[in-house]
Amino acid sequence: MDILKKYIGNIIGLLLILLCSKSALKQFDKQVLSIYFHNPSLPLFKGIIRFLIAKGFSFISEDDYYKIVEGEKEVQGRTAFVSFDDGWKGNLKLIPVLKKYKIPASFFVPVRSVITGNFWWEFAPIVIKENPEYTSVEELKKLPNHERLSLIRDVSSRHVLKRSCIDLLELKRLSEHPLFSIGSHTYHHPITIKCSDAELDFEYCESKKTLEEWLDIKIKSFSYPNGDFNQRDIALLKEYEYQMAFTTEPDLDNGRISVYQIPRVSINSNGGTYENIARMLRVWHKFVQPLQQKPLLGIMPTLIGS
Ligand SMILES: [Zn+2]
Repeated sequence: MDILKKYIGNIIGLLLILLCSKSALKQFDKQVLSIYFHNPSLPLFKGIIRFLIAKGFSFISEDDYYKIVEGEKEVQGRTAFVSFDDGWKGNLKLIPVLKKYKIPASFFVPVRSVITGNFWWEFAPIVIKENPEYTSVEELKKLPNHERLSLIRDVSSRHVLKRSCIDLLELKRLSEHPLFSIGSHTYHHPITIKCSDAELDFEYCESKKTLEEWLDIKIKSFSYPNGDFNQRDIALLKEYEYQMAFTTEPDLDNGRISVYQIPRVSINSNGGTYENIARMLRVWHKFVQPLQQKPLLGIMPTLIGS
């Protein structure tokens, strides 16, 4: 079913690109196309990058993006910003592509995962198996932070998983390369809106402090784990002197864009290249999502995802 879904999504994506890419690309004459990846395959990553290069995009660093958001710099021609959330080990195989095309990129990493090697949600299937009152990761995300953490700590103390986050040496190598920037993605990758004030303070303060000590650099940027944030998060970003923060909100032309609310479009690691390009150009949301809400086409969500 997943393969069929990916196949259909890709065909629809390709049709949308053929029909609408010319007009859709116009929106990027004045706005940065900001995209972020988690753990894409090499073919998917290359497909997205090659499309952007073929369409005349140049790539900017987070420092340049900051200047654009602050109004100190204008967008000059089609411009894209690339970032990665979580610091997946699989990202390392994409580095040659970034270097080949001289593409700057920001990597947002949660400190704890660099130390332990894994992300908390990798233990979620075991938590769910052992605790039938929970049925999904989404349910675990709704728990108060300390409750979710204690369930994960219990399971992770008894189970060893293969490392899926980059280690400290790999992080240092990335940080030393002039094309790449490292930003905080908190300490534990919590759902920040489920944290107590003290827990949240730790996440913003200790992640920045630890990364700065490890890498001997100033950490300027942050990306919100799971995309969740509210005024408490923004106050802590200011208190600990982060310069900018990246959301998972793709609406590129809303009036809320600020240095602590920089938009990004998510590239779905499990989706096909054409589907992701259609999502990136915002034509998927314009044409496919309304269809999914029509009762007659009720089968569409099952077939092509949301
Ligand atoms: Zn994340």
